[in-house]
Amino acid sequence: MAIHKLRRFVGNIAELVDRQPHGFQKESELIEGGLEALSELVSEDDWLPDAYAVPSPERYQQFLLHADARQRFCVVSFVWGPGQQTPVHDHTVWGLIGVLRGAEYAQPYVRSADGVLSPHGAETRLERGMVEAVSPTIGDIHRVRNAFDDRVSISIHVYGGNIGAIRRSTYPADGPPRPFISGYSNDVLPNLWDLSKESIAS
Ligand code: FE
Repeated sequence: MAIHKLRRFVGNIAELVDRQPHGFQKESELIEGGLEALSELVSEDDWLPDAYAVPSPERYQQFLLHADARQRFCVVSFVWGPGQQTPVHDHTVWGLIGVLRGAEYAQPYVRSADGVLSPHGAETRLERGMVEAVSPTIGDIHRVRNAFDDRVSISIHVYGGNIGAIRRSTYPADGPPRPFISGYSNDVLPNLWDLSKESIAS
């Protein structure tokens, strides 16, 4: 497993976040740079440790791969079992999505001033290696699902906070938004820092 790729990616995102002034003024630059780095990370499926790629028949899994020491960002592997999907939900922070394995569908939603939720444009299919972004400034509400009914898909997500601990909302079709905190599926983080196991070539 080429875990050094994840370590380098975490370093790249930290550099981008370091450069961002307070507030959303330069969010577009951060997202642009982040998508470029994520695109490179998901271009090869040879680095995600197996423990963070395990589906559950119960529900989609969200494995924390890295949390920034100051909770400015985190990296998560999102593991879809066959046919699994999210509820309509928001994030409240910027988020980057890159498909590492399989494919997924994303349907954006918009909420009008009177609170009515409606699909915004068509559902888009993200193939392996493709990336997209969400945020409160560019569109933050969506529903995502595995494109396959017979196999696992995995996407790598980066968020502008410790997403598993952020108070956010799902949007049921009939009824008001429901607050939720997603948490994470794993108790143990991958070890990005044991450099002794890596060959000189890497
Ligand atoms: Fe999402």
